[in-house]
Amino acid sequence: MSGVAAVIEQVEGAPTLLSLELLTMARRLAREMGQALEALAIGPGGAASAGILSSYGVSFLHVADHERLGAYAPGAWAHTVVQLVQGAHPAVVMGTGSDRGAEVMAHLGARLGLPLAANCTEVTISLPLEGGGWGGGAAGEFLVTRQRWGGSLLEEARLKGEVKLLTVAPHALTAEAEPARTEVTVEVRRPSLDEKDFRVTLSPQPNQGSGRISLAQARVVVGGGRGVGGAEGFRALEELAALLGGAVGCSRVVTSLGWRPHSDQVGQTGTRIAPDLYIACGISGAIQHMVGCRAAKQILAINTDRDAPIVAQADYAVIGDVGTVVGAVTSEIRKRQSRPVPSAPDALSP
Ligand SMILES: Cc1cc2nc3c(=O)[nH]c(=O)nc-3n(C[C@H](O)[C@H](O)[C@H](O)COP(=O)(O)OP(=O)(O)OC[C@H]3O[C@@H](n4cnc5c(N)ncnc54)[C@H](O)[C@@H]3O)c2cc1C
Repeated sequence: MSGVAAVIEQVEGAPTLLSLELLTMARRLAREMGQALEALAIGPGGAASAGILSSYGVSFLHVADHERLGAYAPGAWAHTVVQLVQGAHPAVVMGTGSDRGAEVMAHLGARLGLPLAANCTEVTISLPLEGGGWGGGAAGEFLVTRQRWGGSLLEEARLKGEVKLLTVAPHALTAEAEPARTEVTVEVRRPSLDEKDFRVTLSPQPNQGSGRISLAQARVVVGGGRGVGGAEGFRALEELAALLGGAVGCSRVVTSLGWRPHSDQVGQTGTRIAPDLYIACGISGAIQHMVGCRAAKQILAINTDRDAPIVAQADYAVIGDVGTVVGAVTSEIRKRQSRPVPSAPDALSP
């Protein structure tokens, strides 16, 4: 058993942000173990990410290609990873902390009869203690720190097993490329899959592939809560998000009320976001919401209540009605966008 294998996810041939975070942690662990870092990309176009992976220390890219792997199917993905484990014998298999990553790795643990440490923020070797390289296998042991209860609790645990299985908590670390690139060997294989592997298959959503920016990847997120007042109120948030090239998110109250789909929900039971800017409109800032947005670099809260918990946690706050404030911000952006760009002074004119 050798090597650290990272199961990456891709959108249109590019690894997702969570996959790059996964590779960053996997690379550190592989180096500590003195082992190679390998990646597994599932589905068509998997080989396209080899260029990016070379900046993340990956030396071998396994591509599992099969005409039915274009759509996500958890059983088929897990069976594909099982075949990787049986063929390449990695000492460690790591997945992302996305819904898919968690689901596939849970299937994998069940199929291999091995424990899975989910949502890890740190991983170190605890056994063997001495003697340099990884002496691994079932005798090896990792010490992991992992998020529990939506990130409100950190647990330290020992991870055992012939092959160590773990997922990386979303946005627990920053994805870091390296200036020196590795040579990536790409091997494309067709996994052996049958009908029962596709018992559950995700049908493409109507808005998939329409250029909509995903919540998890957006650099700007405009989130709305109960204070937005209703589904209609989200039109203004959509407009602001579009102007800023961002995505719209919401609180759980909003999804429970049926104003927005669950796919827009930010938080413990929704999506974890890590934008440069999160504009939280009419959101109180409950702990279950904040665990989903705490990786945001800056938070701007718009709220009528200066004592709302989110105001104390935000970098900036505007105390006022969401409709009025968002409307004013949007019209100011529009005004600035329509102004002609001043021409540079002519250095040669007298
Ligand atoms: C197990 C569990 C999991 C959960 N998971 C999640 C999760 O993933 N995501 C999540 O969001 N929640 C989650 N929740 C729910 C969470 O506890 C809160 O109930 C929820 O986040 C509150 O949503 P809100 O801020 O929209 O509503 P409220 O708490 O009602 O807050 C509304 C805010 O709007 C402000 N406001 C009102 N009118 C205006 C106005 N005109 N202009 C500006 N501001 C205004 C108010 O001052 C208030 O601060 C979970 C709860 C549990 C128990």
